[in-house]
This record gives sequence, structure tokens and C-alpha cells, in this order.
Amino acid sequence: MPDAPYRLHVRHAPGAAAVRRVLDETLPAYAHVFPADRDAAILVKPNLNANMNALTGNTTDLRLLLALLGHLHDAGYRRVVVGEGTNSGFYRNKIGVIERLRVDRAAARFGYEAVDLNYAPGVPIAFENGVTAAIAQPVMDAALVINLPKLKTHFEAGMSVCLKNLMGCLVGQENKKKTHQSLAANIVNINVALRPALAIVDALIAMEGLGPTRGTPVRLDTLIFGEDPFLIDAACARLAGYPEAKVRPLAEARRRGLIPPAMDAFLDTLPLPLLAGRPLAPPLAGRLATFIHSPKRQKYFLAVRNTAFFTWLAGTDWFGHLLFKTGLRQDVFCRDEMHCTGLTLDRAACNDCGACRRYCPAGLDPVAVAASGDRTGCLECLYCYLVCPRSALVFHGEQGFLAEQLRQYDGLVRKLDGGAGEGEKRRKSASGGRGACERSGRVPPAAKG
Ligand code: SF4
Ligand code: SF4
Repeated sequence: MPDAPYRLHVRHAPGAAAVRRVLDETLPAYAHVFPADRDAAILVKPNLNANMNALTGNTTDLRLLLALLGHLHDAGYRRVVVGEGTNSGFYRNKIGVIERLRVDRAAARFGYEAVDLNYAPGVPIAFENGVTAAIAQPVMDAALVINLPKLKTHFEAGMSVCLKNLMGCLVGQENKKKTHQSLAANIVNINVALRPALAIVDALIAMEGLGPTRGTPVRLDTLIFGEDPFLIDAACARLAGYPEAKVRPLAEARRRGLIPPAMDAFLDTLPLPLLAGRPLAPPLAGRLATFIHSPKRQKYFLAVRNTAFFTWLAGTDWFGHLLFKTGLRQDVFCRDEMHCTGLTLDRAACNDCGACRRYCPAGLDPVAVAASGDRTGCLECLYCYLVCPRSALVFHGEQGFLAEQLRQYDGLVRKLDGGAGEGEKRRKSASGGRGACERSGRVPPAAKG
């Protein structure tokens, strides 16, 4: 049993090796939440909202996921499932985000499974306005749910951390749609119903600005551990310098008394400095998206969006392109897969800065992998290729959907470890110099430098 009413750890974790060390050092403080039975079902719930990888600030970092799975494996747990219901657009387009982000390979490394909760059997629970929606059964049945959210600013919710991340436990597009109206209240409802026992917030690379998918990555090298999702999210608002009153689920939780004065008093005792040394940029959208998504008008938008005609229209490429351009949609649903046939090393460009080693979730030396061609243990996550500030790792194969990430984020990601320049060179380093999406003409003009 816990010996303190509240528990929170904010830990610095710079690089893949540090992430595992910090987990091993910190998780004993949460030993009471882990089942004694090594055959008990454990559900790990990352944020795999879209197919943009963790270096963009969008999704849970494979460095954290592999470190946690390794920790559980070493502790002898045999029934661990990584589960996430990716966002409705990817589900509708039958795009396997779990595979694209290499989460299936990360889980398989330890003999574990990764499942898309959109396709799981559902258990109905009650939401606002008499709505009943289905939560994925593996989440309901698990003896322990470990929430691994990304720290992001979020256009609709204000911030997306522990609370918002649980919406990915809803089964399929229909159940997600049902809960979109009264979103903040329903986010609170799902947390009250599921109440994961442990959360580790991925603030290794957070997202600021127009999250969840079109914001800007911010390297914070931080992990936040805790048990109470309301406490953790309130702490994260302070750490991000984002006004708690603008985080809609937190405001709703406070209204319901789920953030009692004792919790505030506990938070006031903690040093919770701004992780970025400044407030994170708020999630400001363009005029049209802001107008439509205002709480006063959103119900009318949702009434239109939930019609069969609009669902069909939203599935067409030309209308999807229009939605993206106007800011009403944040994702591009490229159907072309990425095929990596190898990475090679440009020896003249590499200055042995070590950035690729700090970002490799598998604990490999990407320089050695590229130099030798021996890819044993490589997940093909491409973190090393994407983060190298000198474009010294050369991609071979078809970029497929990755072309869209490069188009939006290449210049930002290569600066994460202090690099500069050469983004254009990297884009052209892949075979043919253009991605499959670019060739199919579905990529709208660049939104970012
Ligand atoms: S990040 Fe690039 S430059 Fe740095 S060691 Fe790795 S390959 Fe070389
Ligand atoms: S070597 Fe590169 S592509 Fe392979 S697992 Fe490490 S970071 Fe990912």
C-alpha cells in the first residue's frame, strides 16, 4: 500500500540509456501497483494517435516503451499487451499505425503483443447525455493499466496528457464519435471509469503549439511518474506553463471535486519549474478551425460531421486535402508504406556526435549498424536517420508515408540534438529523392520549415 496520499516524480532522462536507468530507479516507488502474479494481464497504453513518430512530439517515444517493456520482462511478467486505438482517420483508412511506428516490433522483442484497440471487443460504459460507448475489453480486463501519454498542447482539449490519452481506449470510429460531444466531460468520465494505476508521461520530446499533430517538437528529456491522472495532468500544466483553467478536462475535473484542495496543497510543495524554461506555445489554430470548434458551435459541426455523407466525403483525397489546408484536419492519411532496404553511413559527414546513439530505442550504435550493414536487432524506426544533425545516415528504399513527416518536420527534428542545416539534403538522400506520397500528389504545400 502507498505510504503517501499523493505521489509524483519528475525525472530528467537524456537519451535512451538514461530512460531505462530512470525507469529502473523510479518504478520501485510504485511497487505496490504491480501485481504479484507474473501471469496477470498488464495493458500498456501509449499515445499512438497518428503515424508521425515520437521525434515530431506526436506519439509516445519508443525509447520509453522499450525501456518499460524491458523492465516488465526482466521482472518476469509474461502477459503484457501494448494497446492503442489510433485516431478515427487512420482507422477509417485501414492504416496500421502500430506497425508504421514499429510498436509491434518493440513488443515482439520481449515476446509481447501490440494490438489496435479499435478492433477489440467492447464493454459498454456510460458517458454524458445518456450516451453509451464501448471501451476495449483488454483495458477493462487488465490487472494493471500503465498509461504512457505524450505531453502535448492540444487544440480541442488545451493539453493532452494522461486524461486525454485514455480516449484511445474507445473501440472504433463509432464509439469515438459518440463521445466527441461534451469531450471534456467524457474525458473525465473515461478516467473515472478506468483509473489506470500508473502513468509515465513521455516528455522526452513534447509538442507545443497546434497539437495533437501539427505542433512543434520541444526536447525536454523528462519523464513524469505518478498514480493519479488528475494530479499528474495538473502538475504537467504547471511544468508546461499552460494555464490549468484552459485545459478543459482539468477544469471539468476541478468542477467535479476531483482535484481537491489537498491535491493543490501537495502540488504547491513541489518544485515544478517550466520544463522548457518558458511556457509552451498555446495550440492556436487558423480562423476557420477556431470559429467552427468554438464550444458554442462545435455541436453543429459534429452533427454535420457525423452524417454518412460527410463520412464518405471526408474519405476522399480531394476533400481531405481541403480539410488539411483549412486546418480542420491535422493528419494526412497516406496509404503508401515505408520500405527501408538499409541505411548507409556517409563517413565524411559523420563527426561522431553520438546523437543517433542517444535516440536509438534498441540500444544499438547506428553508426556501426550503417557501416556494417548488420541490422540485427534494428527496429527500422529510423530515429537515428531522422535525428542525425549532419544527414550522415543515408536512407535506401521507399519513403512512403514517411515523406509527409519529412515534409513537415525534417528541419525541426534534425535540430533536436543541436544540429542545423541540411534538411533539403536529407529529403533528397532517399532513393529517387521523393516519397511515394509526393509522387501520388496527395501532399499539400508545406506547413512548416
Ligand atoms: S548522429 Fe550523425 S553525425 Fe552524429 S554520430 Fe550519428 S551518424 Fe554520426
Ligand atoms: S539503428 Fe536506427 S533504425 Fe535501427 S533501431 Fe536504432 S534508431 Fe531505429
